[in-house]
Amino acid sequence: MIITDAKKLIEYIKKQGAQRIFIQSPNGFRSKLIYLADKIEREIKEIEIIIDGNLNYGGCDIQGNVFSLLDLDIVIHVGHTPFQHNIIKPENVIYYPLFENKKITKKLYLEIYKLAKQYNNIGVVNSLQYYKQSLELVNQLQGDGFQVFIEKPVYNYMFKGQILGCDISAAHKIKDKIDVFFVVSSGVFHALGVALWINKPTFVVDIHNERIIDLEKLRRKYLSKIAYNIEKTRECLKIGVIISPKSGQFNYMSARFAYDELKKLRKKVYLISMENITQEQLSYFLNIEAFIQTACPRLSIDDIFAFEKPVLNMEQFLILIGKKKFEEVYP
Ligand code: SF4
Repeated sequence: MIITDAKKLIEYIKKQGAQRIFIQSPNGFRSKLIYLADKIEREIKEIEIIIDGNLNYGGCDIQGNVFSLLDLDIVIHVGHTPFQHNIIKPENVIYYPLFENKKITKKLYLEIYKLAKQYNNIGVVNSLQYYKQSLELVNQLQGDGFQVFIEKPVYNYMFKGQILGCDISAAHKIKDKIDVFFVVSSGVFHALGVALWINKPTFVVDIHNERIIDLEKLRRKYLSKIAYNIEKTRECLKIGVIISPKSGQFNYMSARFAYDELKKLRKKVYLISMENITQEQLSYFLNIEAFIQTACPRLSIDDIFAFEKPVLNMEQFLILIGKKKFEEVYP
């Protein structure tokens, strides 16, 4: 269930008669999490709130095991929409997305306008936080006579135009109609996925920092490192295949597939379960030369320069074993 309003959230908790709740968010929203905890406590006196202090990157990371351990009534997952591939689905999880209020300034819009003039058809997608601003941008551009496209993602729970690090279906739906993508967001994380997986000019409309970022340079930098990693893995003999125990990142079948395929290539393969795949955790496996990770596909992109050894995701692995062409995955 998604609740977007604090009042309604508190009403829901009261109605459920919840006595112990668990609230979680990505690291960047911790202050907002504390603010929310204060608000709930002010309104509901007899409630116990447990704040999740673990790393959390998405709706793919609902900690099902804490439900029974802590005898929880409700989990409130702040900052994301439900994740379609969650295999652990505790019943009472409320998704409470957060939206930024910062408006598109006149100065930023003028820059967008100048850029838009160079193209005929414009595609708009957003990161959840900037959903409202993306609709505002669509209206403004259409008002100024541009052809603008925005679509709902494949998954129902997601908002119009919303993309995730691992789901750019809202962009795929319009890619053949447009000449350029405007990704309404902050930072390059969401836009990088679009730039890598769809070969169209891609720009971040960075609302927070009031700037536009062209993704082309970054796209080329990441593509060459990905290609290098795939080739490097080919030469490695000892390879670890990582399974994630996270609710939406658990892909045992993919891990088993990778394991079997690597065996056919006469590699020495190890199945490893790892919750947070970081350079530090990987560094303890001194004698493993490369890893295939079946958790979050973006780890093998965004952390690629932090990892000292190749860490391929499944689509990169499929390129490695010849089941896909590099240009198919990264056109
Ligand atoms: S990109 Fe990774 S962290 Fe984000 S929702 Fe997808 S699997 Fe989860």
